Amino acid sequence: QALEPSVSIHSSQNNSSSDERVVVLVIGGGGREHALCFALQRSPSCEAVFCAPGNAGISSSGDATCVPDLAVLDSTAVISFCQKRGIGLVVVGPEGPLVSGLANDLVEAGIPTFGPSSEAAALEGSKNFMKNLCDKYGIPTAKYKTFTDPSSAKLYIEEQGAPIVVKADGLAAGKGVIVAITVEEAYEAVDSMLVEGVFGSAGCKVIIEEYLEGEEASFFALVDGENAIALESAQDHKRVGDGDTGPNTGGMGAYSPAPVLTQELQSSVMESIILPTVKGMAAEGCKFVGVLYAGLMIEKKSGMPKLIEYNVRFGDPECQVLMVRLESDLVQVLLSACRGELSRLTLDWSPGSAMVVVMASSGYPGTYEKGSVIQNLEEAELVAPSVKIFHAGTSFDSDGNFVATGGRVLGVTAKGRNLEEAHERAYQAVEAINWPGGFYRHDIGWRALPKKQFAKQS
Ligand code: AMP
Repeated sequence: QALEPSVSIHSSQNNSSSDERVVVLVIGGGGREHALCFALQRSPSCEAVFCAPGNAGISSSGDATCVPDLAVLDSTAVISFCQKRGIGLVVVGPEGPLVSGLANDLVEAGIPTFGPSSEAAALEGSKNFMKNLCDKYGIPTAKYKTFTDPSSAKLYIEEQGAPIVVKADGLAAGKGVIVAITVEEAYEAVDSMLVEGVFGSAGCKVIIEEYLEGEEASFFALVDGENAIALESAQDHKRVGDGDTGPNTGGMGAYSPAPVLTQELQSSVMESIILPTVKGMAAEGCKFVGVLYAGLMIEKKSGMPKLIEYNVRFGDPECQVLMVRLESDLVQVLLSACRGELSRLTLDWSPGSAMVVVMASSGYPGTYEKGSVIQNLEEAELVAPSVKIFHAGTSFDSDGNFVATGGRVLGVTAKGRNLEEAHERAYQAVEAINWPGGFYRHDIGWRALPKKQFAKQS
């Protein structure tokens, strides 16, 4: 393991059950789940980590024992696995099992589960639900109206003018938001969702929303039903190409901390957005336990944060940089969230910065080939200090080589005393990996790094 194993248990010292050793099950098999397994495994109170389904890198790195055959959408199968293995904490990574109610069933079976109920996951699963909550509890967000009838939607667009944003209510694999520059584009978006039904039932309600101008930022908080604590700041890079060009992806790289989220802004997000959401959800009888990931727009004209969207789980690249920086005992932290005891905690983070550069299969986010061989991963982890490679989509071929099986395949992560050093180390490791079938962005961190840093890369 190239990362130094220093872990502090400050956050759990005032917890009465800090002596317990817990067997953990992580649900999912991407880079986010690999990073969670890594951080859980190094927690002093962790006995063992299982990951279902996991992936080749998670098992070969020893960060968890993978359970590829466990059907994670089948609550009965998951509960029976937990009972057999004495699982004391389940951490659900992706939104799919959350929206379909895995956490409800596990909690009902008495298994501590970090992740929201299906009702609370509606914060991500239904934009209309999220916007109504904002209205009711005074949470700053873009002005909006919801429609099921295309003519009324178009009338509203005509009144408001462009640019304007059209959103499908439900989960649409990241494609349900159209930022329309002209009124005609907005009409087309309405027709495609309400008339042609391109997103099926996810698009049978549309939200027409005011266009906000400013810089986007992500904010993460751990929530225990009544209280929330902020995680360190992190910034993702959504577009596939250098210079933020090309289509959106699940994230091509991230860094932490992110200077765009000043201390002042972070306090303002907690006070005006996160805490009113947590209190509002509790007041609605829909307590939220898990990670709240707020997509924000720091509005140009006011400098104030407004909520664009909620996700009910970690962002993938952001999770990787946060988990290598977290020095608290993650098992105890997440158990505290499950028990409603987060208000007693403070989290410890490594000083300095972390960066992750995502390596993806050529062609991603469009069609890409599977099965290309990746070599030199072990060597790459040793090429610089504090490098850790998380796997998002790998398996083994018959010769025991790693092969790419997904779009985003590796998260090459490094820590440093500052962002420049983390950047240097992460790219050294990326360049040491032999994967002709892959590509990566060369400019991760460009907003926060001096320009000279990039001359070296390109
Ligand atoms: P969402 O899935 O709601 O996060 O939207 C995807 C992307 O669309 C965001 O990351 C923003 O870049 C953009 N977007 C969403 N809502 C707005 C808005 N009201 N004003 C401007 N851009 C937006």
